[in-house]
Amino acid sequence: MEKTKFKLEKAKIIRNDEKGIQKTRFIIQSLFAALCIWIGIEFYLFNQYLETNGAAAFYSRPPGVDGFLPISSFMSFYLFLKTGIIHNAHPAGFFIFLSIILMSLVFGKSFCSWFCPIGFISELVGDFGEKIFKRRLKLPKWLDYPLRSLKYLLLGFLVYSVVVLMSTLALKAFLDSPYNLVSDVKMYYFFANISQTALIVIGVLFVLSILIRNFWCRFLCPYGALLGIFSLLSPNKIQRNAKSCIDCGLCNKACPSFIKVDKVKTVISDECSTCLNCVDACPVKDTLQLNILLPKKKKINKRFVAIGVVSIFMIVTGFAMLTGNWQNKISKEEYLMHYKLMNSYGHPTGTKEFKKLNEEVEMRNKKSNSQ
Ligand code: SF4
Ligand code: SF4
Repeated sequence: MEKTKFKLEKAKIIRNDEKGIQKTRFIIQSLFAALCIWIGIEFYLFNQYLETNGAAAFYSRPPGVDGFLPISSFMSFYLFLKTGIIHNAHPAGFFIFLSIILMSLVFGKSFCSWFCPIGFISELVGDFGEKIFKRRLKLPKWLDYPLRSLKYLLLGFLVYSVVVLMSTLALKAFLDSPYNLVSDVKMYYFFANISQTALIVIGVLFVLSILIRNFWCRFLCPYGALLGIFSLLSPNKIQRNAKSCIDCGLCNKACPSFIKVDKVKTVISDECSTCLNCVDACPVKDTLQLNILLPKKKKINKRFVAIGVVSIFMIVTGFAMLTGNWQNKISKEEYLMHYKLMNSYGHPTGTKEFKKLNEEVEMRNKKSNSQ
């Protein structure tokens, strides 16, 4: 008791007066959400043009919509790693994916808490839930751990289907397929004519996110799972100075990912999204901070994180724009043609031709390996 009192007294002397970063984070999240809404409006107008068979005014397709095709973007990324080719069906998706991976390698799972519109909505819904229940509800460990593994199972299935089961030729065949070319338009109609089942699922996720903060992100998002893995490689980590820490537990309380920040020296967790809530909450100067650990340990200013994540996104997407790799090369006439045939386009991996192609490549590989 005496010790705690002494520590609190000490805390008054060395109070943390640093300005918080949450307002800036909120502004960045809001601007990115507004950008996504703008992309949605442009894409709606583009689809009106297709729906009226070219009678409505033409609005070009916003390339940013590619960012909502994570599987196609992942396949493009993998094709690039294997061949050095940037596939031209959804090139913006490739660059957005690349910028998000880079962000994770530098600043941890920062995309989730600084940009992702789903993460932003989850956060707002979670705040609403906390206002109702007056506390942050958490699932017991025996349920939390198995549920958290779900997103890794989904990610594992996706990676296995692409990396293990698909040859380079099959990968290219998928990306070239008309199904992939119009996957963005198909996605639009999935939401425009949303089924009752999909609405129920979204409704259930919404309610669960009120009860349990970040329900979707914590348990189900395979994208977040992938970024969480990359984030472990980041040299920037939240660190606690155990000597000046007064064990007030405020960092613990502030963490939306339920990380026990007050019990560790360095936060090494796939759930940490570098939101810096814990750093802002800490009342003692220089006790909890984001440090770069390599090449040598140094404190990172919170504002630098904001500038850093925005810069990575802008530099990578700006590079794509300047080098002519942002827009795809599909003409409006081609889109009109695809629109008419779109409903006959099945998932290419289910077609006989695709299976045959994959089998042929496998046979060829086996032959060349045995020679
Ligand atoms: S540990 Fe800190 S930075 Fe990481 S998620 Fe929790 S509050 Fe955010
Ligand atoms: S590190 Fe956490 S427990 Fe320690 S003083 Fe800061 S907020 Fe309190």
